[in-house]
Amino acid sequence: MRQFQQTAKYLFPIALILLATLAKYSFTGILGNRTPFLLYSGVVIGATWYSGWRIGLLTNFICLLLVVYLFLEPIGSFYIQPRLYVHLLIFTLQNVLVALMGYALQEALRKSRAAESKVKLLLEEACDLLVLRNENGKAIYVSPKVTEITGYTPEEYMELTFDRLVEPEHLEMFKEKIESVMAKPNERQTVKSLFRCKNGGLKWLEGDVYNYLERPGINAIVSHIKDVTSRIQLETQKDEFIGMASHELKTPITNIKGFTTLAKSAIRTNPEKAEALLGRSEVNIKRLGRLVNDLLDISKINTGRLSYEFQLFNLSSLIQEVVQSFILTYPGHTFTLETVPLAIINGDRFRLEQVITNLIDNAIKYSPESRSIVIKQELKEGKAIVSVQDFGIGISEEHLKHIFDRFYRVDASSMRFQGLGLGLFIASDILKNHKGNFWVESKQGEGSTFFFIVPLQGYSKELAVTDHATFYHNSSISIHYHSKENYLEVKWIGIQTKETVNESGLKILEFVRKTKATRVYNDNSEVIGNWSDTSDHGGKVWFPAMAEVGVSFFAWVMSKDRFSNMAAMRSYDMNKSNILIKLFDRQEEAVSWLLEQEVDV
Ligand code: ADP
Repeated sequence: MRQFQQTAKYLFPIALILLATLAKYSFTGILGNRTPFLLYSGVVIGATWYSGWRIGLLTNFICLLLVVYLFLEPIGSFYIQPRLYVHLLIFTLQNVLVALMGYALQEALRKSRAAESKVKLLLEEACDLLVLRNENGKAIYVSPKVTEITGYTPEEYMELTFDRLVEPEHLEMFKEKIESVMAKPNERQTVKSLFRCKNGGLKWLEGDVYNYLERPGINAIVSHIKDVTSRIQLETQKDEFIGMASHELKTPITNIKGFTTLAKSAIRTNPEKAEALLGRSEVNIKRLGRLVNDLLDISKINTGRLSYEFQLFNLSSLIQEVVQSFILTYPGHTFTLETVPLAIINGDRFRLEQVITNLIDNAIKYSPESRSIVIKQELKEGKAIVSVQDFGIGISEEHLKHIFDRFYRVDASSMRFQGLGLGLFIASDILKNHKGNFWVESKQGEGSTFFFIVPLQGYSKELAVTDHATFYHNSSISIHYHSKENYLEVKWIGIQTKETVNESGLKILEFVRKTKATRVYNDNSEVIGNWSDTSDHGGKVWFPAMAEVGVSFFAWVMSKDRFSNMAAMRSYDMNKSNILIKLFDRQEEAVSWLLEQEVDV
């Protein structure tokens, strides 16, 4: 297309010159002698208009030669009679002037068109939805943004009445506001209401509506509409949270007040009772302190200001201390503690105490029918694994994946148990900052076990065993190339963290590149732990990289651990490559499927 336009720029003036010359030849008798100047001036104007001032000037020069050669005496020669000098000079000057004027005009037009389309583009793309209506309220223009917001095309939207768009509960208010705008020139109103989208979903839309019916050049009711659904949701969440937080803070304050008043009156007559009451008051003071600290921590996490003081300390003795204080506070509960004597880690003692306290607190809180809590600590592959098990209400599968989100509370439990849904979110942030990890195993009605891991100090990574060509083995992965069938067998072992997943991912890529394997058997059946921090990267970056080095088929055996599977599913869902990935529960099925796959050459 561009090429054609370029060629036409030259062809058009040539065609004009030819036409003019032909006309002049054919009608010399009628047109007379002076006409070549007029006729060729027309040619130069046309050429300048269509092809720009440069080609216009060139055309002028060619026309000048043609006029002199073909139509001025002596014909067939470039000799110019002195009396015609002035005519030729005027002809040239006039054409140059016309060419320059044409150019200026064209430039002005081009600029104004560019500005117009820029404004239109800005209105349609950068701004939110724009709707213009006439004096009867009928839509006369709807910007394309409407499809992104409501799912309707501009044409569909124009045909819809407010009754179809606005939810019934807001309809009356909506109509009232629009009518009040329409009634008065230059009136403006902000209207916020629930709209029903094409797919049936609801969205909060907020529009500034202006009456510009009498404004020259606009003459319409202009609505500038924004999708404010997430803002409204956030506001609602914030209001709910403030309500919940005030309630949570009020309860221990009321308790403290009650217990101290009772203790005061019992202190002389029944000092034992007074002591017990003060003990209960102390529990509430502690709870209040924890709530306030949680709130402060959340705001610090939001602004990235939660600070840590790292030092070497024995995690085992910290766990013992925390459990000891729970034993004193909850004499009616049984705390079973299985720990190793020494687990030196480099961490923030206060913050990890907060994590353990929160887990045990939750274990007590969410087990109204059971009084037994089991706390275990073991050392594995250079990491300390701590678990807190309860036999309480448990968590259903659908809620598990949100459990570490901020403000998340399982619906059914939030009514029965006090809390703000902050503890686990803070704990998971603390563990991330310790290069640690966090996950949970739970069954509704049977109880939950929360796990966390932190790396031990001074643990040097074991060296990998490898021949750099067909096998590789370390504590978190084993890779084996089956040369006969041309596939790579990858087995992930034990606890996986962001670091091990990233490192092993690179190793697999290296082996695929070396062996040119097109099929990968990926076995997660022995994996534990939550490696969800890397699952997005796995789907978006690692799989495409695997595709690039030649992998076409990927048989994926799932783990028995639910959190690990959630991370795997996330990677699977995010997969951006064209590798064919199939998930399996059983290893034999995965291998036999993989071996059936052939690469088309
Ligand atoms: P809070 O307990 O203050 O609501 P958390 O962040 O500590 O906040 O916990 C978030 C949610 O996770 C809780 O509201 C509860 O629904 C669920 N939960 C946490 N621990 C347990 C547990 N041991 N058993 C059952 N549900 C739990």
